[in-house]
Formats: sequence, C-alpha cells, structure tokens
Amino acid sequence: MSAFCSEYWEKKVGNFLNNPSLAVKNDVQDHIRTCLICRQSLDEMMGMRRLLKNLPDTEPGEEFEHNLNRRIQFIRRDRNRPMYRYFEYFNILFTVLIGSMIVLLFFLFSQILENIEKKKLEEERSAPKQEMILPD
Ligand SMILES: [Zn+2]
Repeated sequence: MSAFCSEYWEKKVGNFLNNPSLAVKNDVQDHIRTCLICRQSLDEMMGMRRLLKNLPDTEPGEEFEHNLNRRIQFIRRDRNRPMYRYFEYFNILFTVLIGSMIVLLFFLFSQILENIEKKKLEEERSAPKQEMILPD
C-alpha cells in the first residue's frame, strides 16, 4: 500500500506519474529528497507501473466477445420494451394509481364507519324506551 505524508503530495505525485511536466517533476524530486514516506510510495508506484508495462498484451478470447455481444443485444432488446421506453409515464401512472387507491380506501373506510354509527343511532331510536321503575 502506498502512503504519502499528506494529501497534497499524494495528488502531486499522482500528477507527476500521469503527466510528468518539468515543474511538477522538480517539485516532486525536491520533496522526495527529504520525505522518506513519499519516496517509498513513489518507488512502489513506479515499480508497479514497470511491472504492468512488462505484461504481454492479450486480446480477449472469442467467447468473451460473443458473450459481450449477446449481453449488449439483450440490453438493447430490453430498452426497446415499452416499459423502458415510457418509463417516466409508467412511473407517473403508477403513482397516480396508487395515490387514488389510497384515497379510495380512506373514503370507503370512512363510509363504513359512518354506516356503523348510523345503524347504532337507529337502533337506539327504534328500541323501546325503558321506563324507569322507581322502587316504592
Ligand atoms: Zn512527503
């Protein structure tokens, strides 16, 4: 793992590796003369670069290309489905549908409650009033 003495120098060394301009190079060289941490990290990264550069170039196999093309075709086919093409409209429609269902449910629920209340009231009214019997 490479470590640097500060984020500033980490960025600077990264810059130097990716795009070695003379000014940056001088800065980095001046710094690593006195900073062991950054010098070790730079060595490590340069070593890794050399290692990667020495790897032989390989082409992906035929099977890889075949599979990749198949997946691309699948994705293209999926994208052409109406669900994907009109996704935003489906989304809006879905939201409106769910919203109206919730409102409808609340409405039905309140109606049911109201009916129960009415029935109770009617029963109370139709029930013969019990006269209070006072003890002698
Ligand atoms: Zn440093």
